[in-house]
Amino acid sequence: MNVLRVALDVPVATLFEYASDADRRIAPGDRVVVPFGARERVGVVLELAAASTISASRLKPVVRVLEGAPRLPQDWLAQMRFLAGYYQRPLGETVASALPPRLRSLKPLPKRRAAGPAREGADSAVAAFVARHQLNAAQAAAAERIGGALGRFRAFLLHGVTGSGKTEVYLRLVAAVLQQGHQALVLVPEIGLTPQLEARFREAFPETPIAILHSALEDSARTHAWLDAARGQAAIVLGTRLAVLTPLPRLGLVVVDEEHDASFKQQEGLRYSGRDAAVQRAKLANCPIVLGSATPSLETWFNADAGRYERLSLPERAAPGAKLPLVRTVDLRAEPAEHGLARSVVEALRERLARAEQSLVFINRRGYAPVLACEACGWAAGCARCSAHLVLHAAARSVPRLRCHHCGAEQAVPARCPTCGNADLRPLGRGTQRVEEALGALFPGARIARIDRDTARRRGALARALEGIGRGEADLLVGTQLLAKGHDFPALTLVAVLNADSALLSTDFRAAERLYATLAQVGGRAGRRERQGEVLIQTRFPGHPMFAALARHDYAGFAEAQLAERRTAGFPPFVHEAALRAEASRLETAMRFLRDAAALAAVPAGVQVYDPVPHVVTRRAGYERAQLTVQSLSRPALQGFLRDWSERIAATAPRSLRWHLDVDPIEFD
Ligand code: ADP
Ligand code: ZN
Ligand code: ZN
Repeated sequence: MNVLRVALDVPVATLFEYASDADRRIAPGDRVVVPFGARERVGVVLELAAASTISASRLKPVVRVLEGAPRLPQDWLAQMRFLAGYYQRPLGETVASALPPRLRSLKPLPKRRAAGPAREGADSAVAAFVARHQLNAAQAAAAERIGGALGRFRAFLLHGVTGSGKTEVYLRLVAAVLQQGHQALVLVPEIGLTPQLEARFREAFPETPIAILHSALEDSARTHAWLDAARGQAAIVLGTRLAVLTPLPRLGLVVVDEEHDASFKQQEGLRYSGRDAAVQRAKLANCPIVLGSATPSLETWFNADAGRYERLSLPERAAPGAKLPLVRTVDLRAEPAEHGLARSVVEALRERLARAEQSLVFINRRGYAPVLACEACGWAAGCARCSAHLVLHAAARSVPRLRCHHCGAEQAVPARCPTCGNADLRPLGRGTQRVEEALGALFPGARIARIDRDTARRRGALARALEGIGRGEADLLVGTQLLAKGHDFPALTLVAVLNADSALLSTDFRAAERLYATLAQVGGRAGRRERQGEVLIQTRFPGHPMFAALARHDYAGFAEAQLAERRTAGFPPFVHEAALRAEASRLETAMRFLRDAAALAAVPAGVQVYDPVPHVVTRRAGYERAQLTVQSLSRPALQGFLRDWSERIAATAPRSLRWHLDVDPIEFD
């Protein structure tokens, strides 16, 4: 009799043993239905064993094997083991979170679809692609280096300024991989933000089946895409971080575009970094990986400095005549802003309007104003469930509302101050809606388009708006981060940045890195054609070295300066970090749990456990949040410590309290 060791979606670290009849030929990677308590559950066989660790009488047989999907391959199972170990999650939960819901259910899977176009013709299609897409010298050199590594693991950092043609390099490499009959996995931060990327892949490889994978897909679309990828039918898999968890039997290349983007980090359940998981995945599949960005994460930059990744640079824009934008600061101390806009910024906008060019006004805050306050008594509208102000939303032609950006709570705007009765409540600060209003008053004839999470809420709304802007249907764009990424607006020549300073004042040690990336990205939208673009940054700190680096387009200089600071301060990537987080209805409960957990720790030499602190936004949706940080210079020492510690915590944590470990955490709200 064979003993199967099965991963089940339950929060315990062990595998569960079942008997299989020998002739069934069940193997690791099979999905099986097994009895568990009073119910039947779907699990994944991870190991076979000759003998059971439990008594034969308690060893229950497997109910059946689930058909319809290929057996999960060895490298996928190895990836699950790695992720479970690295992120301190039970293997069963890790496997479950990697499978689309349908693959974890007892329902039968959809039948195999008609086979996609066969490989015949791939060669001529690729030849046609190569003929249509000529690379410049820097692109060709990068493609040559990476292409030379096909068939073995090697990690590359493709550091290319905005518009340098990184995507063309990816496409060329994908063409080479397709020609070899292999699959390419391309990861992007958020698919909804980059419809142009998908279009470019489809246009470049019109005959090639492409699977799109992201979390907003409906169940059946996701199942189909996953199966196409797992069956090897989809030669290109384009997706967000979760796509890295897809089995790919012929994986030959991994690309992570905008690798610095924080949305590669999952912030719940299995808190993995899609980028780091992708590197690991490439290692297991023995293929090269390309991490592409204009502003690489400092972790990746550091890995390139250390020689673990090979750095390749595209220092110039690729399109004929396109130059990087001129970047200048506008000193708000010398030139006070009116309605949020400095006079020289207004003049620059006016000039662009006169020349029928587009301008983008960037403000990373949606809504009308971040605070609604009473100037008589100092009251400000706050969320009852979060330690945060309510944001005033007052778009044209809609009833003003107060909304919490942390928990989503919404309420009407009070007619008078609830504390002193004053009827004159004032919005303080500004968001996209208020800027839109100010621009409307300044430039009555201009067509203004606002792009933020509010205008992009409806499905397809963002893509439609971006297309319209691309066709020149707007003169002035007002928007958040959503406008920063990957879009190519031919007529856009000016970018004005309104609220950069709030990030300069942040306590998060990653704030400077993030701000540089955002400003380089948003500035990168300007002047992507013949006319050089201009970026104006309103600030009270025009002497800040970040702005000088931005003006020189010197990410390398900025990164090295940041790394020097982090080395001195003892921050990642010079130390490895994990956070233990707790949430409870009372802050003291969460803090006490963390103190008790720290007391449980058998801290080895080289590992440092810090005191618990409340989260920056302490209360969120009614829960008080606190965390403590663990650091070590040694990754193995940290991993070993966390394994032992998390078991101790799990054994003693009160059931009522929510807690988790986050390995390589990044701050979030
Ligand atoms: P990135 O991904 O680095 O932002 P893209 O690949 O989107 O850059 O290229 C930016 C622009 O330059 C696009 O309009 C693209 O068509 C053009 N481009 C890219 N490579 C070349 C090239 N070798 N010759 C001419 N134009 C190019
Ligand atoms: Zn008042
Ligand atoms: Zn709230």
